[in-house]
Amino acid sequence: MSESSVKILLIEDNLAEARLLQEFLKQASSKQFNLLHVKRLGEGLKELNNDIYDVILLDLTLPDSQGLSSLVPLIAQSPSIPIVVLTNTNDEELAIEAVRQGAQDYLVKRHVNTDVLVRALRYAIERKQSLEGLRKVNENLENRVQEYTAELVKAEEINKFKAEFVSMLSHDIRNPLNAILLATGLLQNNDNKLTQEKKTSHLQLIRSAIKNMAHLLDEASLIGKADSGKLQCQLDPLNLELFCRQFVKEIQLNINEKNLTFIFNSIGKFDEELWDEGLLRHILGNLLNNAIKYSLPGGKVLFEVIDRDDSVIFLIQDWGIGIPKEDQMHLFEPFHRANNVDKIPGTGLGLAIAKKCAEAHGGKISVSSEVGVGTTFTVILPKIKS
Ligand code: ADP
Repeated sequence: MSESSVKILLIEDNLAEARLLQEFLKQASSKQFNLLHVKRLGEGLKELNNDIYDVILLDLTLPDSQGLSSLVPLIAQSPSIPIVVLTNTNDEELAIEAVRQGAQDYLVKRHVNTDVLVRALRYAIERKQSLEGLRKVNENLENRVQEYTAELVKAEEINKFKAEFVSMLSHDIRNPLNAILLATGLLQNNDNKLTQEKKTSHLQLIRSAIKNMAHLLDEASLIGKADSGKLQCQLDPLNLELFCRQFVKEIQLNINEKNLTFIFNSIGKFDEELWDEGLLRHILGNLLNNAIKYSLPGGKVLFEVIDRDDSVIFLIQDWGIGIPKEDQMHLFEPFHRANNVDKIPGTGLGLAIAKKCAEAHGGKISVSSEVGVGTTFTVILPKIKS
């Protein structure tokens, strides 16, 4: 409060009393009070919208509002402006209630004089200021507590996720490790009893178990990389249509093994554009291999790449086992496998990787599926201009 410019809004319908208050303020030793007088609550509220006041002097009997009901809209509109209520001798109780409900002070009209008025105004302003200060400190504290709590919850979730991740990973590594232990044990202990054919078969089993483990570790480390923000998009000029055709050739062996009809369509005109081939391989590799893996022998897989002005859409559709509704929302979480996979092998990491790679390329991935009918994955990647 600067000494020379205390702005007071007086809401008082009685002209004589308003004039008296103005007189008292004029008599104050320094001319530090600047008072605006209105006669109705409505006018007061309007005035508070137009200008900034240091304090409100409020009569509790107004033509458009009676008693404490005047306080509510004033506090709601200007919560930081102190209010001093003016009462008659016989309604002191009402005045005390007004203070309880948020007014800073009250003045009994008959007892008002310059000193009392000036003291009440200053006291109200200062009290309100310290209350406001406290309120702000409190609000800040509350915000900080909320922020820390949110951080703690997040950290707890990350820790829980990490613990689950490690436990799933060690579980999935144990299987191939056991197979290796078993096969090497057989080779070691029965060396002279085993036929060459059996030995080769055990060695093949060991190789394939090691390959599985290496694959699992590669996938896990890719997810780790994505989670720590290290999965970056490295763009190089690439003709998407040619790339997709070549990619289909690379997975031809898997297609043939299941005797599937595989259809590849490219829709639109494809020029060389900037893409991250590594990310594309992870996305399409996982989705296409899943479409093949979860198809029934003799089934059909459709792979379409559609060129749009600013984006490219990949559609991977199969008519395989489908995904139960309750699993669909968790599919992209690491290690989640639907309950209808039966004995079809898998780690549950492929879709998590595909999603993270699509996101690293600024895109998104979605699924629509019905059990026994089939599944379609759609990936939309924005074209990135150099
Ligand atoms: P997985 O190694 O188990 O295939 P993914 O992360 O690639 O792991 O997929 C997660 C789960 O999503 C799978 O276990 C399977 O239940 C379901 N899934 C993914 N693609 C298909 C599909 N094309 N058809 C049916 N189910 C699918």
